[in-house]
Amino acid sequence: MIKEFASSSGDIVIKIDYDKCTGAAKCVEVCPVDIYELQDGKAVANNVDDCIECCACVESCPNGAIEHSSC
Ligand code: SF4
Ligand code: SF4
Repeated sequence: MIKEFASSSGDIVIKIDYDKCTGAAKCVEVCPVDIYELQDGKAVANNVDDCIECCACVESCPNGAIEHSSC
């Protein structure tokens, strides 16, 4: 299942593939503005408006579970 998280303007969309996400939490560690947290062992993205489009989350995920509209 793929879940989408978007900024309020819709300009930034983060998609997390829950079939791939293993809760490794690398995204939680690397995001400089704390977008990610784990809920029930899966990553969720909060406050996407704060995203600075650095792409660190996409690069950090060992399972390629994150797709980001800017990266
Ligand atoms: S780094 Fe990837 S596998 Fe780990 S919690 Fe984040 S999205 Fe899931
Ligand atoms: S692109 Fe950068 S700021 Fe945006 S969610 Fe990923 S790590 Fe965080």
